[in-house]
Amino acid sequence: MIRVSVVGAKGRMGATVVDAVKNAPDTELAKALDAGDDLTQITPENTDVVVEFTVPAASLDNVLTLVNQGVNVVVGTTGWTDEKLARVKEALASHPDVSVFIAPNFAISTVLAENFAAQAAKYFESVEIVEMHHPNKVDAPSGTAIHTAHAIAAARKDAGMGPIPDNTQTDGGSRGQVVDGIHVHAVRLRGLNAHEEVLFGNPGEQLVLRADSFDRSSFMPGVLLAVRHAGENPGTVTVGLDNYLDL
Ligand code: NAP
Repeated sequence: MIRVSVVGAKGRMGATVVDAVKNAPDTELAKALDAGDDLTQITPENTDVVVEFTVPAASLDNVLTLVNQGVNVVVGTTGWTDEKLARVKEALASHPDVSVFIAPNFAISTVLAENFAAQAAKYFESVEIVEMHHPNKVDAPSGTAIHTAHAIAAARKDAGMGPIPDNTQTDGGSRGQVVDGIHVHAVRLRGLNAHEEVLFGNPGEQLVLRADSFDRSSFMPGVLLAVRHAGENPGTVTVGLDNYLDL
């Protein structure tokens, strides 16, 4: 059994992870901690891997503390920057037996859709992204849509493709945000959760890739996958669930 501790255990994601860890056949819950709790309770004696879902302002300090405790960490909290990653790499230099894994998105459908989109990119003249979320989301377009746009743009560049055809002469803002040359549209609608469509077009044909994340359970297979791979690359930070998918 893999002994898993959860930090942010009272939060929406953390509580879902606690249930997933209790229900999976090969994991067991070690510690469930939240704001105000002392993370040094977590040690290699009681924990193989920690899952951290808290808030961007707290996540770096939590990860540094856990690395110093000598335990592997799987992080789902958003807001990671190159500077923050550099701080974790520095800490790992003194703890070469510990690994840190960070996934901006644990939904396997979304990670696959982005990968498929990058594969398809060079075969289609036109491409646009439509992301759709619940109206409580504060950022638009979503980080995932921006990431997908960059992946498509990189694939088009590698293939030597030019700009996407678009003869729009007047635009009151309805053509969306242009990210790396790709138009990205954001819909905010009550009842939705997290959804993304990538539309590819050629003369006479269309390909639509769509990923739907209906609720927080969509993230749990990805979290458990990362938990099972924890410790595989000691002394390093790994970013992105695609590292653990057979692509
Ligand atoms: P949430 O419901 O607000 O939960 C956050 C929890 O962390 C709360 O219980 C909070 O306690 C606790 N916390 C705050 N500071 C802490 C600290 N220093 N140490 C330990 N715990 C602390 O948020 P959520 O919806 O679960 O989301 C958590 C994070 O995951 C966000 O960054 C979100 O964007 C991200 N997320 C990522 C994915 C992915 O696939 N990677 C998917 C969904 C969400 P208090 O309420 O008492 O402050």
